[in-house]
Amino acid sequence: MFLKRIELSGFKSFADRTELEFVKGITAVVGPNGSGKSNISDGIRWVLGETSAKSLRGGKMEDVIFAGSDARRAVNYGEVSLTLDNTSQSLPLDYNEVTVSRRVHRSGDSEYFINKQSCRLKDITELFMDTGIGKEAYSIIGQGRIEEILSNKSEERRSIFEEASGIVKYKSRKKESEKKLQETEQNLLRIHDLVTELE
Ligand code: ATP
Repeated sequence: MFLKRIELSGFKSFADRTELEFVKGITAVVGPNGSGKSNISDGIRWVLGETSAKSLRGGKMEDVIFAGSDARRAVNYGEVSLTLDNTSQSLPLDYNEVTVSRRVHRSGDSEYFINKQSCRLKDITELFMDTGIGKEAYSIIGQGRIEEILSNKSEERRSIFEEASGIVKYKSRKKESEKKLQETEQNLLRIHDLVTELE
């Protein structure tokens, strides 16, 4: 699996629809300071479900929408699409190419799509779980992240190894099941109280 293409439109400094094609191997993005290199990696993390505006170097989520410049008016929504080659079927979808997209409006509402089909953020998170590509995964190492990883608490470092070893999805399912079990136990207690009252 590899990243084939990214399309940005109205996202940060990319007012117009901009498409970047990647080929197998190493791609370096070069450009002057402030030309938008980091905005590309912000776009990747954003489409993968980043919900913290701060980690996208903004104050609130609308800050990712192109805010206008001397020459151009601001736009009403921002969108990023990521296309991955899935011929290896690393993503559990029966397609050789998978495109995930996210759109945000000035109201702050986000929409998510997998192959143009509307979906929930949860679907995107689950799709990338244990692939190393999720927003918290090790495939995106930002400036300062290496020191962060080295100096983090051991429990936080552990999460990187868990993602790499492919157990995150089982941990997440276990957590969901435990929550359901707890709710069921609470319901049983209430039923028991009602039965006692009726007797
Ligand atoms: P450096 O080499 O200094 O790290 P860079 O190439 O990584 O720079 P970025 O940090 O990606 O550059 O881009 C910063 C530019 O993006 C700034 O000019 C900033 O004004 C612009 N920018 C960020 N958010 C928006 C937005 N919402 N609307 C318009 N422009 C934006």
